Amino acid sequence: LAAAHDEEHIFRSRHPAVPVPENVTLPDFVLQDAELYADKVAFVEAVSGKAYTYAQVARDTRRFAKALRSLGLRKGQVVIVVLPNVAEYGIVALGIMAAGGVFSGANPTAHASELKKQVDAADSKLIVSYAPIYEKVKGLGLPIIVLGEERIESAINWSELLEAADKAGNNFSNDDDVKQTDLCALPFSSGTTGISKGVMLTHRNLVANLCSTLFSVVPEMIGQVTTLGLIPFFHIYGITGICCATLRNKGKVVMMNRFELRAFLDALITHEVTFAPIVPPIILSLVKDPIVDEFDLSKLQLRAVMTAAAPLAPDLLSSFEKKFPGVQVQEAYGLTEHSCITLTYGDPANPSAGSKKNSVGFILPNLEVKFINPETGKSLPSNTPGELCVRSQCVMQGYYNNEEETARTIDKNGWLHTGDIGYIDDDGDIFIVDRIKELIKYKGFQVAPAELEAILLTHPSVEDAAVVSLPDEEAGEIPAACVVMNPNAKESEDDIMDFVASNVATYKKVRVLHFVDGIPKSHSGKIMRRILKDKMLEKMRK
Ligand code: AMP
Repeated sequence: LAAAHDEEHIFRSRHPAVPVPENVTLPDFVLQDAELYADKVAFVEAVSGKAYTYAQVARDTRRFAKALRSLGLRKGQVVIVVLPNVAEYGIVALGIMAAGGVFSGANPTAHASELKKQVDAADSKLIVSYAPIYEKVKGLGLPIIVLGEERIESAINWSELLEAADKAGNNFSNDDDVKQTDLCALPFSSGTTGISKGVMLTHRNLVANLCSTLFSVVPEMIGQVTTLGLIPFFHIYGITGICCATLRNKGKVVMMNRFELRAFLDALITHEVTFAPIVPPIILSLVKDPIVDEFDLSKLQLRAVMTAAAPLAPDLLSSFEKKFPGVQVQEAYGLTEHSCITLTYGDPANPSAGSKKNSVGFILPNLEVKFINPETGKSLPSNTPGELCVRSQCVMQGYYNNEEETARTIDKNGWLHTGDIGYIDDDGDIFIVDRIKELIKYKGFQVAPAELEAILLTHPSVEDAAVVSLPDEEAGEIPAACVVMNPNAKESEDDIMDFVASNVATYKKVRVLHFVDGIPKSHSGKIMRRILKDKMLEKMRK
């Protein structure tokens, strides 16, 4: 397990390596054998009941790819998808990839100004969205494909587009010119520092991630699992971990576009969901909210929940296990820059073979992991906390148009530096204990301090600003700001918080704000976030 390798402490999976097929694109990989499950539902919307079978998903993925080519989309061009989790989401994403395009999901609750940043950073040429937010996306200055039956004059209608593609003859017959090494996705992540950046992922990255993640799936499980599709598909956890993984296994995804506890429990029961990938704040409400008692939990078919994207508090895990005794909790750890899941706790084929409680899990097959001293870069032996680094075929190609940040994140030997601190014990179970990167995770969503600082600095009365994360029981972490005001400023702390709120999606709001005399900075001008955070925590305790 722990092999000393060129005097480096490199750790590998306790499970055997798995093969990763070559020459197959992501859409072909996940829709392989779809014809054998033609009538089985692949996606169903929990509330409306709108559904697509495997035959329809495979057909419409091809039709959409053909339509995109007829609209002039060329290989490598980015399409921004601004949608909640609707039944068509998987078809849209896979269709873009099958056409040789690059799928870039955006948060549909984002402000127009935030969407514009993503459109510009990705050099995007086209948007896919839906009628309820058309007013917001229309100002982005790109052609927009709009889902649904409703006709909007200045937009391209989805159904009409697919019908036109049918009539257009066979000018696009196969994916021959799309290679596994081509880019297929550009999700956005702030990484270890700075603002949100496009993460370049290839078909190979995602196929390799799925092969590692699904290593323990046995033939009897194919076609059997009903997965909750609540995690947004614009996030890597949604598109790889839920959408693609479920399609590959010919399961069913029950699509939900927002979390509301009653609707959530209703969906679990009505649609007989067996597997629910969620985030720690949902575990918290399942444990604490009295609404849960309104439901007959014996009707649940749920066998496992996966919790990822943020740390799970140990006592929360115990309380959940007590309340839902038949449900296995699989903790998982992953990041956008590694195509999704990297470490996982549970072994779905063999539930008793999971990792230790409060461990985020073991190393997935095919991956190499090491822990380094962040100052010296030297790798560390087991049981010694250090920065988690991972090397595998799932590591991103880099940040789009940003060589500097790429070089900071992936070293010359191919190691991805995660910015998370953890250690591995002698059984190969990994524990994440801290985070050294700037990133704040609000309910599992990424909030980049640098982005909020830049917005604060646009306020005429703000002279300097720094944003750090503070712990919060419900959200896990919240963004908190220290602000230096111009001496003549009249605004209150609340006014400045409202100003930020009017410029960002709700989950990015600054939730605590203090006026201060100065921001502590290093000689090189870097904000000393640890010091600020400790000061704010001290203030909170008083
Ligand atoms: P994202 O790219 O949005 O998925 O964010 C990845 C980051 O979320 C990781 O680098 C961690 O800081 C954090 N994260 C993800 N999963 C876990 C977990 N199970 N425990 C602790 N932190 C996690």
